[in-house]
Amino acid sequence: MRGLFWFREDLRLHDNPVLLRLAEQCDELILLYCFDDRQLAPGRFLAKGIGAPRMTFLKESLEDLSESIAKHNQRLIFRRGNPVEIVSQLIRRYSVDCLGVTTLPGPLERKTVETIERRFPWLEVIEDWGHTLFTPDRLPVSIPDLPDHFNSFTALVQHRKPHLPEPPPDSLPPPPIISKTEESDPFPAIDNPYRHEWVPPDWFGFYGGEQAAFQQLNYYLWDRHLIREYEYTNNGFIGWNYSSKFGPWLALGCLSVRQVWYSVRGYEHFCGECESTQRLLRELLWREYFQWLMVKYGEQVFQPGGIHGDPAYQPFYPEEFAAWTQGKTGIPIIDACMRELKTTGWLSRRGRRMVAHFLAHELDIDWRYGAAWFQQQLIDADLAVNWGNWNHLICGERTQLDNVLKQAFEYDPQAEYVSLWLPELQELPESQRHTPFWSRKPADFRFPIVDVTAWKEAL
Ligand SMILES: Cc1cc2nc3c(=O)[nH]c(=O)nc-3n(C[C@H](O)[C@H](O)[C@H](O)COP(=O)(O)OP(=O)(O)OC[C@H]3O[C@@H](n4cnc5c(N)ncnc54)[C@H](O)[C@@H]3O)c2cc1C
Repeated sequence: MRGLFWFREDLRLHDNPVLLRLAEQCDELILLYCFDDRQLAPGRFLAKGIGAPRMTFLKESLEDLSESIAKHNQRLIFRRGNPVEIVSQLIRRYSVDCLGVTTLPGPLERKTVETIERRFPWLEVIEDWGHTLFTPDRLPVSIPDLPDHFNSFTALVQHRKPHLPEPPPDSLPPPPIISKTEESDPFPAIDNPYRHEWVPPDWFGFYGGEQAAFQQLNYYLWDRHLIREYEYTNNGFIGWNYSSKFGPWLALGCLSVRQVWYSVRGYEHFCGECESTQRLLRELLWREYFQWLMVKYGEQVFQPGGIHGDPAYQPFYPEEFAAWTQGKTGIPIIDACMRELKTTGWLSRRGRRMVAHFLAHELDIDWRYGAAWFQQQLIDADLAVNWGNWNHLICGERTQLDNVLKQAFEYDPQAEYVSLWLPELQELPESQRHTPFWSRKPADFRFPIVDVTAWKEAL
């Protein structure tokens, strides 16, 4: 039997159940990754599907995967273009009997596979859930009946056992002789890779691939036991150690979420359960919740009212949006976050919440432009998690927490973070760096683009 395995957001050999099945049942196997060039052009909400930081990470991840595959005397074919056409072409050209692909929650990703199934009714298609902790059969209720609120979702699934991660295949079937000459396309040129720009001194930097993912997993759990502090550090802004940094590897599937889950459980077994280990598992359940919301609601996640369906009018102000993306709003904490995101492709969870609130509630801009900007910029952009978090934020009530300055003083009390990313503020005393607009403002720092008077009362 001749198989074709199509890698998507599962750039790994470990815990890849579909790849494992194909390795067992095929005599010959073609391994493919398709890069859809349409992602490089700005879309409906102005942003591209992928920006330089994630492109760099993707390239490294594919190089790492190719190396691992080469150890099995196999090769990864990298092709650029419309994935449906590329996969169809290879199915025809090499008379493929069986296609293997990991199911993803995004509606477009699922439709793509359905289109191929319709084109080749005789083709055996092996699909399985490898991007989530659970599979639909392990969920206690059917997908349409899954609760819309996180706490109810967690109550339902928290005592369920996710699948154990599968081992990598012992060997891979060889490629068909005729495909040995199938050329890979060159990887697209990456403009302005973030590695060449200034980054803070204690920033290790993300490196794509399964090997780097396991290094980070071991570093965070076993080498440094940083996981024990997670509960107290996860609101941090500066440095490598305040949170696990697993996101980018999880998003591209260099690391399986089940592998992370069971590694944390293993850590608890040997070193003891604590608030921090439990908190990290809970964060993985947030990730899981958003994956299934995407499956349940599909396209509705991208609608103006999100999954809650409130069709509120969503305005767009191009100048304010540009100021937000470029870190030039005149609000130091927002600008520091947005400059970090622009330069490195990274932003802390607290930072993401603050800038997202600011866009949707202070600038009153259609939140979907913000979500699309995040999707382009973040190294760990994950369709379900990113759009899910934005849905969650826009439907929430406005609270005191949304007071940007209050949060700035609470989470960056010494103004270290704003000083790091906005050197122009360093001429002011620390106590004034979050509020340059209420003191002698540095000449090259702009006046705020929102009315900040209301914030003063709540401080
Ligand atoms: C507006 C907005 C957009 C976001 N977009 C993304 C995104 O595209 N991709 C992404 O992985 N995370 C996203 N997050 C969630 C969260 O901010 C990041 O997962 C986290 O900051 C990544 O850092 P870490 O890997 O060190 O995570 P840790 O804090 O160490 O947590 C471990 C893992 O748990 C999961 N997780 C943590 N927080 C959340 C959360 N709020 N929702 C869902 N899963 C979570 C992630 O997989 C994360 O890698 C977003 C949050 C907001 C507010």
